Amino acid sequence: MFKNYYWHGNRGEKTVYLTFDDGPTPLVTDFVTDLLSQYGFKATFFCIGDKVDRYPATYKLLENQGHQVGNHTYHHLNAWTTKKNRYLDNIDECSKVVDTKLFRPPYGRITSTVTKRLINKGYQIVLWDVLSGDFDQKRTAASCLKNLKKNTRNGSVIVFHDSDKSFEKLKIILPKYLKFLKEKGWDSKSISKPASI
Ligand SMILES: [Zn+2]
Repeated sequence: MFKNYYWHGNRGEKTVYLTFDDGPTPLVTDFVTDLLSQYGFKATFFCIGDKVDRYPATYKLLENQGHQVGNHTYHHLNAWTTKKNRYLDNIDECSKVVDTKLFRPPYGRITSTVTKRLINKGYQIVLWDVLSGDFDQKRTAASCLKNLKKNTRNGSVIVFHDSDKSFEKLKIILPKYLKFLKEKGWDSKSISKPASI
C-alpha cells in the first residue's frame, strides 16, 4: 500500500512541494498566490469542487499563474465515514470542475478499496511529510513556524490551508516560511501529473 501514495519527492534535490488544501477562497487564495509569485514559487492546490463552483474567478487565478490543481472531493468528505460509492461519486463530481489526476483525501483518510479504484482510474494520491498546523486553533504561529523549519527536507510535501479558518495563522506563517526557504536555497515546485512522478 505504501507505494500507492506520494509522500515526498526526491530527497536529493533542493526542491520542496508546497501544497494548499480546502480552497479556492477569495482573498486567502489571492494572498497566497501573490506571495508565491514574489518568490517565483509554484505550488499545488487541492481544491474542494463546491468552492470551485462558488468562486470560479479565484480558481481561475491558480491556472493563470501556472500552479497545479488537485482534487479534494466535491464536499470535503471523510472516507472513513462515507459509503464507498458516494465517496467515489463525490470525487467524480469534483473532477468535472477540477481537471486533474492528482487527489488528496480530506483529513488524510482513505481506505484500501478507494485507493485501488483511484489508482485504476489513473489517479496519483498525494499525502505529505510535513504538516504546517495552520488549521490547529491550539497552536501558535511561532510554534508552527518552528516545527516547519525543523522538519523541512529536500523533497518535502508541505501542507497548508488556503481557507478562512486558517488564514489568521497562515498570514503570519507563510511570509516567514517562504523567506526561510529562499534563504536556505530551496525552490518550490508544483507536483507533476501522475505520468511523470
Ligand atoms: Zn481538506
